[in-house]
Amino acid sequence: MFKKILIANRGEIAVRIIRTCKEMGIKTVAVYSETDKNALHVQLADESVCIGPDKAKDSYLNEKNILSATVLKGAEAIHPGFGFLSENSKFARMCEECNIAFIGPDFSNIELMGNKSNAREVMQRAGIPIVPGSDGVINEYEDALKIAEKMGYPVMIKASSGGGGRGIRIVHKKEDLKSAFTTAKAEAKACFGDSSMYIEKFIKNPKHIEVQILGDKFGNVIYLGERDCSIQRRNQKIIEEAPGATISKELRNAMGEVAVRAAKYINYKNAGTIEFLLDEDNKFYFMEMNTRIQVEHGITEMICDVDLIKEQINIASGKELTIKQSDVEIRGHAIECRINAEDPSKNFMPCPGEVKYLNLPGGLGIRVDTAIYSGYEIPPSYDSMVGKIIAYAPTRFEAIKKMERALSELIIDGIETNINFHLEILNNENFLNGEFSTKFIDKEFGHCF
Ligand code: ADP
Ligand code: ADP
Ligand code: MG
Repeated sequence: MFKKILIANRGEIAVRIIRTCKEMGIKTVAVYSETDKNALHVQLADESVCIGPDKAKDSYLNEKNILSATVLKGAEAIHPGFGFLSENSKFARMCEECNIAFIGPDFSNIELMGNKSNAREVMQRAGIPIVPGSDGVINEYEDALKIAEKMGYPVMIKASSGGGGRGIRIVHKKEDLKSAFTTAKAEAKACFGDSSMYIEKFIKNPKHIEVQILGDKFGNVIYLGERDCSIQRRNQKIIEEAPGATISKELRNAMGEVAVRAAKYINYKNAGTIEFLLDEDNKFYFMEMNTRIQVEHGITEMICDVDLIKEQINIASGKELTIKQSDVEIRGHAIECRINAEDPSKNFMPCPGEVKYLNLPGGLGIRVDTAIYSGYEIPPSYDSMVGKIIAYAPTRFEAIKKMERALSELIIDGIETNINFHLEILNNENFLNGEFSTKFIDKEFGHCF
C-alpha cells in the first residue's frame, strides 16, 4: 500500500480524499495556488506545497509543478479528484513515465473515453446502445445541416471534449442551426482548446441515469447501482439521488450489466461512471463515460456502504476488489444538494466572498462535504460549488424531509447561495412524486430566470 499520496486538487474533494487517506494510515500532501494558502485542504494535509499562482492553468493544471512536488515530497501516488487534471490522459501518462501511480484508470482508458465522439464509436462497437447521432466528428456547418435534416429536429450539438455542461446547444429548427453550431464551437474552443463537435438526436424529456462502476487490475468489474441526476440547470447537475426514484430492479440490473460490459470491453480499471439517457419508454442510451470519481459519488457510498475513494486507492495499489457483485446491496435512499456560491436572483451569477459566519447541519443521516469555514474567503478563481449536503434515510420521502431540515439549519453568512432554490425544488409536487426529467427546472422554474 502507498505510504504517501499527493492530492492534485482543491476544495471539498481534496478534503474528502484526505479524510480517507487518514483513515487508511496514508500520509497526505496537499498542493495549493497562492490564493489557496489558507484553504482547508492545506490545513488538513500532513504536508503541503505551493504549485503556482492563482490561475488554474499556472497551478492546479501545472503538470510539471505537480509532478515535481510529488517527487520532492516522496509521494508514490497522485489522486486527481475531479475536474482539473483528472481526465487528462497526457498527465496520467506522465505519471506512469515518472513511476508515480495515478489513482484513476490507465491513460489509454482516459484517451479512449475522454473524447466523447470517439467514446460513442467505441461503445457502438461494443454493442452498447448509444444516442442516435453522427458518426464521428462534424467539422463543417454543411455536414451538420445534412445530418440534422436526416435525423430530424430537435438535435443536440455537443463538443467532443466537453464537460461540466459546456459546449452543448439544442437546436429546434433549421434556421437556428448555423448560429448554434458556430457559438458552441467557439465555446468548446475557449473552454477545452478543442472545437470538434458531434451531433445527437435530442431525447425528449429524458432522465439522466448514471451507473457507478469499479474495476480492478484482475479484470473484475462491478456496478454499484445508479444515480438519478436529472435535476439540472443548464445541463449541470444540482440535485442527485440514489437509487433512482422510478428505476425498477429489472431496469437497474439491465443498466448495470450494460455498464459492466462497456467497462470490460475497454479493460477499464478504477472507479468510473457510465452516463445514460433514459427516455420516456424506459429505453436507455449511452451518453458518456466519466473516467474519474464524480461530484455525486457520496450518495452511492451511502446506499452501498462503500468508501469509493478507498476502493480507488486499493485498486491503484494493485489490490483485487474486495466486493463481489453479489455483495452489493442497496439500502435506503440518499439525496445530495450541491451548494453553490451564486445568486439565483441575478441569473445564478457566481458570488464569491468572505464567509462571515458558518453553521453546518448535522444529526442522524446528514453528511456535509465542504471545505469552507467561518472567516474563509471564497476566491472567484475556481468553481462556485462550495459544498454538498447529503441526506440519507430509509425511504425517499424521509430523505427529502431530512434534507429540508438540514438546509434550514445551514447558514452561510456573507455570500449569496442557492440554498433557498434547493428548498423550493424539494417542496415541488412533481419532484416529490418523482415525476421529472432533465427539463424539470426549465418547466417548473423557467419563468424565474
Ligand atoms: P460530475 O459528472 O462529476 O457531476 P461535473 O460535470 O459536474 O461532473 O464536473 C465536475 C467538476 O469538474 C466541475 O467542477 C466541472 O466544472 C469540472 N469539469 C468537468 N469536466 C471538465 C472538463 N472537461 N474541463 C474542465 N473542467 C471540467
Ligand atoms: P457533460 O460532458 O457536459 O456532462 P453530457 O454529454 O453528459 O455533457 O450532457 C450533459 C447533460 O445534457 C445531460 O445530463 C442531459 O441533461 C443533457 N443532454 C445531453 N445530450 C442530450 C441529448 N441527446 N438529448 C437530451 N438531453 C441531452
Ligand atoms: Mg455528463
